[in-house]
Amino acid sequence: MSTKIIIRGWIIKEIFSKLHNTEFIKSIELRIGGFEFYPIPDLFIRNCDKCNKNLYNAIDIYNTIKDDTAILNLNCDCYNDFKEKMYIEDDTIASIPIKERISNSLEYLLYKIV
Ligand SMILES: [Zn+2]
Repeated sequence: MSTKIIIRGWIIKEIFSKLHNTEFIKSIELRIGGFEFYPIPDLFIRNCDKCNKNLYNAIDIYNTIKDDTAILNLNCDCYNDFKEKMYIEDDTIASIPIKERISNSLEYLLYKIV
C-alpha cells in the first residue's frame, strides 16, 4: 500500500512571490517539472479540481517563456484554505524543536509510507 503525498501548487505561487524580480531568480535556469514523466510521480502538485488546469497552464507558460505573471495571478477559493493552513503549520512547526521534527519526519517516511 502506498500513500500519495499531495503537494499544494500554491507553494509555487508563494515561492515566486518571494523571488519575483530578484537577481537570484534571474540568474538561475529554473524549470518546474514532472509532468512529462510516466508513471506520474507520487509527489505531484495539485490544488483543487476547479483550478488545477490554471495551475498547470501557468507552470507551462513559465517553463516556456520564463514569465511568472500567470503563476502570481493564480487565485481560487482553495488559496485561502491553503494560506490559513500554512499559518497554522508555521506556528505549530516553529514550536517543535528541530531534532523532534527530523525524528517525526523519519518516522513518517519509515512507517507510514510502505
Ligand atoms: Zn482551487
